[in-house]
Amino acid sequence: MSVPKDCPKCGMINPPEAQRCDCGYDFFSLKSERSFLGSHRPHRGQTHLWTGIASLFVCGFILGPMTAISATRDLRAIANGAMDPAGEGLTRAGQILGIAGTILWFLALIVRLLLVLGN
Ligand SMILES: [Zn+2]
Repeated sequence: MSVPKDCPKCGMINPPEAQRCDCGYDFFSLKSERSFLGSHRPHRGQTHLWTGIASLFVCGFILGPMTAISATRDLRAIANGAMDPAGEGLTRAGQILGIAGTILWFLALIVRLLLVLGN
């Protein structure tokens, strides 16, 4: 086995003799273990996902931008290695939902204004 290993978790190419990727993926147990980098802050993907979903239904004008801004900040932290990359998907989903919540709230506001003006 002298083929470089592609990490299925983070996509990083590891040397053939690598036992574990920098992100913590273990090539032998095929599970994610604690990262070698060690200094990651835990991700908040779950929180972003749920506040993102919530922003579609309630308080979109607060939760939407709040989630979008916070998730964008966390995605930057994940990209530069300061935060656990395992949360990237959830954080990105939260970011998109937050933006969607903001847009929906805006549209609802415009519709309401039009209705008020129309009467
Ligand atoms: Zn990896």
